[in-house]
Amino acid sequence: MRVPFLDLKAQYQSIKEDIDLAIHDVLNKTSFLYGEHVSKFERDWAAVLGAKHCVAVGNGTDSLEILLKALEVGAGDEVIVPSHTWVSTAEAVVTVGATPVFVDTVDRLYTIDTTKIEKSITPRTKAIIPVHMCGLSADMDPIMRLASHYKLWVIEDCAQSPLAEYKGRKTGTIGHAGSFSFYPSKNLGAYGDAGAIVVNDDDLALKCRRIANHGRLHRNDHQIAGRNSRMDAMQAAILSVKLSHLQRWTDQRIGYAEVYRSMLDKRFNFTNPDPEYLHVYHLFIIQVDNREAVVAHLKDCGIETGIHYPTPVPLTLAFAGHSLERNLWDVSQKYSEKILSLPLYPELTVGQLEFVSNEINSLR
Ligand SMILES: *Cc1c(COP(=O)(O)O)cnc(C)c1O
Repeated sequence: MRVPFLDLKAQYQSIKEDIDLAIHDVLNKTSFLYGEHVSKFERDWAAVLGAKHCVAVGNGTDSLEILLKALEVGAGDEVIVPSHTWVSTAEAVVTVGATPVFVDTVDRLYTIDTTKIEKSITPRTKAIIPVHMCGLSADMDPIMRLASHYKLWVIEDCAQSPLAEYKGRKTGTIGHAGSFSFYPSKNLGAYGDAGAIVVNDDDLALKCRRIANHGRLHRNDHQIAGRNSRMDAMQAAILSVKLSHLQRWTDQRIGYAEVYRSMLDKRFNFTNPDPEYLHVYHLFIIQVDNREAVVAHLKDCGIETGIHYPTPVPLTLAFAGHSLERNLWDVSQKYSEKILSLPLYPELTVGQLEFVSNEINSLR
């Protein structure tokens, strides 16, 4: 049985008619940037999350960077980020001229270890970027307490967590701002690059909008030196179609994660989220010894897997020079040798999930 890690073609086929109509609508209106498709998606995404503003941007890395700029985080400042994340979280910090300070993550949850944050705070610390890894919220209460005590901004990196909840609140609406990526493989994926900023503060929303559009809100009114980061209308129209399916797809992911959890041996150390967290399973991660051999064996059986991610960011060549020396990332370093992401998406069948589970349970 073949089980691809992801099947975007199957997803497209399931919604082809609406997607094709949406694309043709953009072509017919020839309004490729801004316009009604982008505004509609911004309104709808803000409404789904219960946020006041959504600013559509070019991708999820830009959204982090624009937020940092808008919050005036720059040279000489430090920003706390988790050691286990996609590189973007730290890249955005470096791009604005600030220094990422990496804090270890929790085994099996893969989110920042909030008990280790405070000792990394210095007078230079300006912000914390918790990442809701794999679709599971970071523990936001202690983060918000520290932020209010030390007067820090909190930007939630929600690239992997659309519709995830923490104590009844949607991720992206708990901190001062939320950052989303609609990279094609994300739970809500465009057919190219796209991202979004979500904020409640009116001024911050306007500032982000200016930065993303050459410093202006209106033609020729360049109030600050900005940049160009726009979501195009084609992506917005596609995302609007997909948004109407997102709740159902998310429920399916949650249901499939339950299937894995009920079938897989406990020795694979998968996440068992606290009921106060609504995990949306962008990724379902298990832990295995001899990962290389396991990956090869599963591949022989037709099962594709992934590793998200093999190296903690502060240990990559790119960030070794940027991170300050006062932290250790032994937990994320240790589990990163064992983590393995299993196929999990709505287009799978229960039969495929059972096949994967049985093959994994038979591992010695
Ligand atoms: C995907 C992702 C991003 C941003 O991705 P883009 O490719 O720039 O849209 C940021 N942070 C995390 C944790 C991600 O998974």
